[in-house]
Amino acid sequence: MSHILVINAGSSSIKYQLVDPASGERFASGLVERIGEPEGRIVHRGAREEELAIAAADHTAAFEAMVAAFARQGAWVESLGIAAVGHRVVQGGDEFVAPTLIDDSVAERILQLGSLAPLHNPGQYQAIVAARALFPDAPHVAVFDTAFHQTMPPSAYTYAIAPEVAAEHGVRRYGFHGISHQVVSRRAAEFLGRPVGELRQIVLHLGNGASACAIDRGRSVDTSMGLTPLEGLVMGTRSGDIDPGALLHLLRAGYDVDDLDRLLNARSGLLGFTGTNDFRDVRAAAEAGDAAAALAIDLYARRIRHYLGAYLVELGGADTIVFTAGVGENNAALRAEVCADLEWFGIRIDADRNESTERGARRISADDSRVEVLVVPTDEEAEIARQTRQLVG
Ligand code: ADP
Repeated sequence: MSHILVINAGSSSIKYQLVDPASGERFASGLVERIGEPEGRIVHRGAREEELAIAAADHTAAFEAMVAAFARQGAWVESLGIAAVGHRVVQGGDEFVAPTLIDDSVAERILQLGSLAPLHNPGQYQAIVAARALFPDAPHVAVFDTAFHQTMPPSAYTYAIAPEVAAEHGVRRYGFHGISHQVVSRRAAEFLGRPVGELRQIVLHLGNGASACAIDRGRSVDTSMGLTPLEGLVMGTRSGDIDPGALLHLLRAGYDVDDLDRLLNARSGLLGFTGTNDFRDVRAAAEAGDAAAALAIDLYARRIRHYLGAYLVELGGADTIVFTAGVGENNAALRAEVCADLEWFGIRIDADRNESTERGARRISADDSRVEVLVVPTDEEAEIARQTRQLVG
């Protein structure tokens, strides 16, 4: 029995899964929330599902709560067969181009890269420290969201600002959602029965966060997120692209840095227009005649089409367009809007296929569509488990 424990941590939460890396099958999963607050909670799904109020003072206490939850259900840590621990890390800068075995110096670099990802890396570092102490005999592996995009050419990742300023502050495009873009593009190729190394793919990851990626024969050559996960598509609460001059304008009008941060990351996107970042609710409001919700969806779809057009040119055409994540996998109307009137580009959706509620990877393009348009569920945890096993053998 050899399982991979996959950890996806934030500053106040830890999601975990116990995964068979060969099949991707889950044996258990769970979530510890509100770490550091007096009233937290754990939801554990093992032999059965249980939810318990707990107080986890820090990430160490959160992992202890996880171990206790396994034990309550008759699974002691020693019997779980944890062969390795795979940690999702959001920002790997330009030095981590592949999954990396974590030692003290790698952990320290992950913490330092927190200056580029203050909402993510510090919590992930804390989880790494706590998990290494709790599972000292297992190898720990960091799998980075940015690594897949390290194949972008300089003209795709460089911002046209003074190079010495960019170099001093690490200001360049890194891209995110790389774990998802990688697993989805590989599964799309498997679905088509073709080697990934033959395909030009455009993957649209549309969840709460959203990004597009141009993948040329297995290598990311461009993606819509940049220095931070704020650039690019309109998202649940984030603005995506905006003229940087607008930020200067707001600064001069009296906004400070924290105001701008909240505005762009937490008060914009779908939520800014409608008061909710749940795409289902926005869609329902638009259908009920809410003009702001209708505008939000138009903006959302238009921005995706903007990147779709750019990447079709960049790749010199595409073999596949792949929709994934919460909105991409579930909202047929949005997929139809994104692909409307693109016959000239060889893109034609089949309405019945698009509206089918079948799960799993599936084709939604018409038989005469030159471009295969697919829906492929993302599975970042299975991919972290796969990459972790690949590294530790
Ligand atoms: P993340 O992992 O980034 O938090 P998800 O990939 O789970 O996000 O996507 C969340 C988004 O997916 C939400 O906007 C939600 O409304 C949307 N979503 C989930 N299920 C459906 C559905 N059945 N129809 C339409 N949208 C959905």
